[in-house]
Amino acid sequence: MPEGDTVWLTAQRLDAALAGRPLVRAELRVPQLATVELVGRQVVEVAARGKHLMARLEGGLTLHSHLRMDGSWHLYAPGEQWRGGAEHQVRAVLGNEARTAVGYRLPVLELLPTAEESQVVGHLGPDLLGPGWDAAAALDRLAGAPERPVGEALLDQRNLAGIGNVYVAELCFLRGVTPWTPFGEVTAPDKLVALAKRLLEANKSRPGHVTTGDTRRGRTHWVYGRANRPCLRCGTPVRVGEHGPAEQRRVAYWCPRCQRGPVPTR
Ligand SMILES: [Zn+2]
Repeated sequence: MPEGDTVWLTAQRLDAALAGRPLVRAELRVPQLATVELVGRQVVEVAARGKHLMARLEGGLTLHSHLRMDGSWHLYAPGEQWRGGAEHQVRAVLGNEARTAVGYRLPVLELLPTAEESQVVGHLGPDLLGPGWDAAAALDRLAGAPERPVGEALLDQRNLAGIGNVYVAELCFLRGVTPWTPFGEVTAPDKLVALAKRLLEANKSRPGHVTTGDTRRGRTHWVYGRANRPCLRCGTPVRVGEHGPAEQRRVAYWCPRCQRGPVPTR
């Protein structure tokens, strides 16, 4: 699943390619939007809100998309071959004279009045990469459920927006707690929130989610994706399990030596 920094970078690239120019091509390949005509409208801006992408169009319309597990937007020059997936996976095409943006496998694609964006993103907590980031408010929301496992609490976009499963694993590692540790038992939770902000900021302008400071292949994460391979800090084999609410189970990685706290019983 794309992390908030990936969505932020996608928004930046789409904005650079599309903003301030009229659309000469616009196709929304989902049944409920198939007849919508957007050609001729100027793209005002493309912005990220948490993990949601907002393409704001002239006339007070917003094209809202969410990448969920494997959606993506790609940009192509005229005549360049599209390579983001099979033709039937294309959900949206937005193009001007110079660039064409193609959205693949978008599970959420809807058009709404810009004035009503809060209906789809109003539930989100403070946005780690947004202009109004508020660490204290995020901390308040997290602290509101002290019994909740920290991994699950960090994934909940109502607490703070932008963290996905890669950062959950790495944040828990860096703060020395397992993902199942109740939030109220995490030492210095303000440092956890500050670290989340720092990691996303550090990675927002580049692909990948480097948490170790080492961009070499196989060295970018302390524990994430390293099942049974050595923890990059202590060499102990990294354990793998599951965390998160029943309806949204996610893979958990942790080092049994570097991280304290509850772990699954099997
Ligand atoms: Zn370790």
